[in-house]
Amino acid sequence: MASTANNPFFTCSTLPYQLPPFAAITDLHYRPAFRHGMTEQLAEVDAITATADAPTFENTLVALERSGQTLARVAEVFFNQSSSDSSDFTTDLEEELAPLLAAHADAIRLDPLLYERIAALHAERSRLGLDAESLYLVERYFTEFTLAGAGLNDDDKQSLREFNARLSTLTTRFEKNLLCDTNALALVLDDVAELDGLTEGEISAAAEAARERGLTGQYVISLVLPTSHPYLASLTNRGVRERLLAASRARGIRSDAAGADTDNRPLVIEITHLRAERARLLGFDNHAAYVTADQTAKTPAAVWNLLARLAPAAARNALLEQADLQAVIDADGGGFELAAWDWAFYTEKVRRAKYDVDTAAMRPYFELESVLANGVFFAANRLYGLTFTARPDLVGWHPDSRVFEVTAEDGSAVGLYIGDFYTRDSKRGGAWMNALVSQSSLLGTDTSVVCNNLNVSKPAAGQPTLLTYDQVTTLFHEFGHALHGLLARATYPKFSGTNVYRDFVEFPSQVNEMWMLWPDVLANYARHFETNEQMPQQLVDRIQASSAFNEGFLTSEYLAAALLDQAWHRMDADTIVTDVARFEADALASVGLDNPAIPTRYASTYFAHTFSGGYDAGYYSYIWSEVLDADTVEWFKENGGLTRANGDRFRNRLLGVGGTKDPLEAYRHWRGRPADLQPLLDRRGLN
Ligand SMILES: [Zn+2]
Repeated sequence: MASTANNPFFTCSTLPYQLPPFAAITDLHYRPAFRHGMTEQLAEVDAITATADAPTFENTLVALERSGQTLARVAEVFFNQSSSDSSDFTTDLEEELAPLLAAHADAIRLDPLLYERIAALHAERSRLGLDAESLYLVERYFTEFTLAGAGLNDDDKQSLREFNARLSTLTTRFEKNLLCDTNALALVLDDVAELDGLTEGEISAAAEAARERGLTGQYVISLVLPTSHPYLASLTNRGVRERLLAASRARGIRSDAAGADTDNRPLVIEITHLRAERARLLGFDNHAAYVTADQTAKTPAAVWNLLARLAPAAARNALLEQADLQAVIDADGGGFELAAWDWAFYTEKVRRAKYDVDTAAMRPYFELESVLANGVFFAANRLYGLTFTARPDLVGWHPDSRVFEVTAEDGSAVGLYIGDFYTRDSKRGGAWMNALVSQSSLLGTDTSVVCNNLNVSKPAAGQPTLLTYDQVTTLFHEFGHALHGLLARATYPKFSGTNVYRDFVEFPSQVNEMWMLWPDVLANYARHFETNEQMPQQLVDRIQASSAFNEGFLTSEYLAAALLDQAWHRMDADTIVTDVARFEADALASVGLDNPAIPTRYASTYFAHTFSGGYDAGYYSYIWSEVLDADTVEWFKENGGLTRANGDRFRNRLLGVGGTKDPLEAYRHWRGRPADLQPLLDRRGLN
């Protein structure tokens, strides 16, 4: 048994930057630390409500902000582990913990005495003599507790607790089923000829993936989270492409006689229904109304208006693209109609024919180490004066997770950045940023530890890691979140780092993507891995000329997913869905995004964002924040681009603000006016 004395979560880490002591952490430490962390926080909350003293900002909200530090420490490490390098142990424990953590959060948010104190402070807030961040803290707590149901009567609170516990169990099971199917349905090929079109490195990665599964002499193509797999662009065998797409789309719909029990369809139905019931209990028409009430969007109508405004133009553009692709098939004497599994493959052909851009030819210029050091880190240095130094002496959670120390121009400490870029069966799909240690001056934590996870196939030993164009974009994107986490400065933990509204959080990361093709940055990192030659200017010019290419498809598949997510959550509690596929087809047809050649970016049964990832009724956020992003890119272009002065302005007025004030107010302060929609329409060719 792990005792209190040697459990590394019970005390603050003494490693540099409070980096969790991964070498000392074992599975046995998690359960006792979660138990102790929850008990400790409940005792801390009890101490707040037990006092006979009248509520003050200090004895109520500051005390609340100081509570739960053990729980936060173990939760950040555990959920990082269960996402990035899971095991049967973490998967089972995650399922066990989900309802307990939901009940724990409810015990605090539904505590009537605590709510009474918060409401009293809220009523008095303008007379408390608070600074702006503290005043905002009062407002946020009052809103969040009210929306969480703190004002309900006891019977309704009990129903709410039951909804929350059941929902957390269901969403955890959804994710478990998805990981299981993603591994089980990976495409196994017997003959190397079937991999024709892939690079040597990709083929050896497929052979290695097969070896790891004990399938010697075979090849395994791992699935990625979205419907479209990157290899669909290069696999020349049409039948293999069809099988690969079919495998992606089969996730979460298996309930066969062979005993597979990973069917997510009943979960989707129950989750959406319970969310609708919970929203009704809380006084909202549907879950989307409940969610957007506490986002910058404010109403589902505002979301729908933007998405529905963009959808027809995107669908029209996609049809034009489809005609171009069909023309290539016909000219080749193909004799078949373009199918969903052909889109990416023929898109690459058209891209080459129309713009003379061969994305595969770029990969030798996108070697991971150079992209990271000479691209991603370099841009952050030019903008914000940050320096990144490898710290191989500091250990992460997996041998592939690498630790870098981040320092400011004057040499002062900013934090640690941990990059874990390779895919493995134990890692969930997609790419993401998370924090292991968050800055908060109240808690005396002046620096943060932030992480990026990607899912890049690992090359054979001794081979370089050559990224695809999309993977380079993803790395710049996730690093934008990391910068937000590193540079935000808050007093209270609630406002640290990327703790902002969900429909705002993608904005800084999307902005950071702009530096990928910025001439000074590109010239610095895009060098041939063998010759060190720069990427030819011609290739760069052509990439830029073709930037709106295929946007009809990309915008359509994204909008289809965003509208599907809204459709599931605009349903009221009286609506009963029995057929997931039917519901999906109807929802997509109603907005004209039912082109069979363009599957939605995620179908419901593997739509992790919506059913397990915290983006429920919130997948619209990406395009919502892209409005701000496109408008911001214009500002940088108009004002001299990659300079320290511009970086400082963006840092001081936006990144550095974290969650300490209303984000749209921060945006107006940064931009000098509210965001304009036009740059987004231009970028995506939607005029
Ligand atoms: Zn993001």
